[in-house]
Amino acid sequence: MPATRPKPRPGVLDIAPYVPGKSNAPGVAKVFKLSSNETPLGPSPKAVAAYRAAGAHLEDYPDGSASDLREAIGRAFGLDPDRIVCGAGSDDFLHLLAQAYLVDGDEAIYTKHGFLIFPIATLAAGAKPVVAAETDYTANVDAILGAVTAKTKIVFLANPNNPTGTALSFDEVKRLHRGLPPHVLLVLDGAYAEYVRRNDYEAGIELVATAENVVMLRTFSKIHGLAALRLGWMFAPAHVVDAVNRIRGPFNVNGPAIAAGTAAIQDLEHQQRSREHNTRWLNWLTDEIGKLGLQVTPSVANFVLIHFPQTKGRTAEEVNAFLMKRGLILRQTTAYKLPHALRLSVGTEEANRLVVAALQDLLAKTA
Ligand SMILES: *Cc1c(COP(=O)(O)O)cnc(C)c1O
Repeated sequence: MPATRPKPRPGVLDIAPYVPGKSNAPGVAKVFKLSSNETPLGPSPKAVAAYRAAGAHLEDYPDGSASDLREAIGRAFGLDPDRIVCGAGSDDFLHLLAQAYLVDGDEAIYTKHGFLIFPIATLAAGAKPVVAAETDYTANVDAILGAVTAKTKIVFLANPNNPTGTALSFDEVKRLHRGLPPHVLLVLDGAYAEYVRRNDYEAGIELVATAENVVMLRTFSKIHGLAALRLGWMFAPAHVVDAVNRIRGPFNVNGPAIAAGTAAIQDLEHQQRSREHNTRWLNWLTDEIGKLGLQVTPSVANFVLIHFPQTKGRTAEEVNAFLMKRGLILRQTTAYKLPHALRLSVGTEEANRLVVAALQDLLAKTA
């Protein structure tokens, strides 16, 4: 029987819509948004100035190849600009890669508490998301390799991962790559790479430079503080660059974003300040929240995952409501199969101190 109305392709209606972090707390005057891993320092003033200047010519189409930005990124990282593609956030690439490399019935692997856009992009492309188990909230290379079948076409790995904040060492990523068949694309999402202070970590540049089946994704939304502009980039083998360039929107990155990103990538001082603020307060939050008797997953990114097992009296949802009343907005992680946890982004000193004080009050009440 013919359908009586248009019907999306299989998989589309299996997608649980992505729910972004909350940004307001009803009835609270001063709100601290600690739910989306945005930087408390904001963008580089040079990026803001470049953005404003670009606003004088909104009638012009942007440079569809984002040459200035690709060259600036190339200089900053010592990369060939021809192997870089810019996009509307790194989310853009997750969809483009899924669209380019998955056909109906293919499989894409991600890890149990992995970034939610991975299964969304996979389902949207008509393929099947396959979940690999984690160990201690960390990707497990053996579990990922064990999940590979003849149908596997992509492995998605956020390193560090959101919302757990954990990362694999470069040795482990190399072991993962060695174990994959050459036709499987390994997508390394390094959204938080700039924050990592571990010398066994590498975001993926070396692997992409030497392999035909690895890509690295980076974003301007986190340390660069340009989330509103939607800007990201991919470093990839030439044949992947070619495929993605064929299907991306010809003007997928807007002009003000290109201008702001080009300035931001060159402002090393601002990046350094942001990194130092994060290192200091990430350690402080981990220590102080730990001292309250709460379990915090050790994080190398700009957020921490705090666990609230129900046995302690209150559910994560109740803790969330309590903090919300004080204008402290955290992220619930139920959709990430972490119903008993909340994710807290590193904020300003004021926000960080308020969160710890609030948790202390909460625990005193429930004791
Ligand atoms: C925040 C985040 C991104 C960045 O997404 P954009 O589309 O660039 O804003 C990518 N991957 C992960 C894992 C993230 O947490």
